[in-house]
Amino acid sequence: MTSPGEFELIQRHVLKSLSGERDGYDRFACADAGVELGPGDDGALLVPTPGHRLVVSTDTSNVDVHFPADAPAHAIGHRALAVNLSDLAAMGATPRWFTLALTLPEADTAWVDAFAEGLHALAHRHGIALVGGDITRGPLSIAITVMGEVPIGQALMRHGGADGDHLLLTGPLGGANAGLKAWQRGERDCKTSALAAYLYPVPRTRLGERLRTCANAAIDLSDGLWADLSHLCRASGLGAELSVPDSAYAPSLASLDANERSQAFWHGGDDYELLVSVAPARLGEAHQAAAALGHELIYIGKLSAHTNAIDGGPDNPGGWRHFGETS
Ligand SMILES: [Mg+2]
Repeated sequence: MTSPGEFELIQRHVLKSLSGERDGYDRFACADAGVELGPGDDGALLVPTPGHRLVVSTDTSNVDVHFPADAPAHAIGHRALAVNLSDLAAMGATPRWFTLALTLPEADTAWVDAFAEGLHALAHRHGIALVGGDITRGPLSIAITVMGEVPIGQALMRHGGADGDHLLLTGPLGGANAGLKAWQRGERDCKTSALAAYLYPVPRTRLGERLRTCANAAIDLSDGLWADLSHLCRASGLGAELSVPDSAYAPSLASLDANERSQAFWHGGDDYELLVSVAPARLGEAHQAAAALGHELIYIGKLSAHTNAIDGGPDNPGGWRHFGETS
């Protein structure tokens, strides 16, 4: 148990680490950070871009629920921000600012430094500035609120899908789940593609920004393809007819048996790729937008007027399967 005095020390250290003093990181270095007043007062003053909507999203990562207690602190910092950036990507938003509420069980400065390093490295890559935070004591938990911007009328939403839209993935799925299983088996080399996919997901923010002008609907794949596709279909009042190619399966699934492979692909989650629906007339534009960023969109089927059911999904590839009225 940490004494109050010790916790004050860690609090000072965390603030120092998070402000970037320790490693020279400048959280406002990204051009046009739009911060009139940063941390230090009772609140931050931010300057939204005229003609844009602010997109706000919150996600909490709890120890032993969302990540293993013995995961590297650097990866925990990366992942906590990545899952939030992924929601901005799904809305087609440009990342701008974030706040952090960090709950720590003990005064471990080495842990905090590694955590801050993972967090800052990703924040820097995506041009998002930390504008406030709060540190408390308790079981390890990281709550992050991200704010992004999107030109008025261009936000991607789950309900925008239309009958006949192509369903496209921004990358193969199942790799993160294979990584989680590898971690649970005791593998610890974070450089392997499977562990990296689980511990260091790459949010598709730049792709989301590009696709916002040509996609009708989007969702990020946090809960698994079956659940997230069902959310998109339900919101759009449609069903889907799927024809999933082998290229949609992450290469690291090749070593699993058929059941495990199917489970990881459809229900594994944590991949943080995007699923977008694009009208046939806009496909060329969407593929070009992806290619400009070095991505290849993977076609997995079409939205269909058949409501609340998906054809070609898991377990029953040859028939319609209902996903019900509620999740
Ligand atoms: Mg989401």
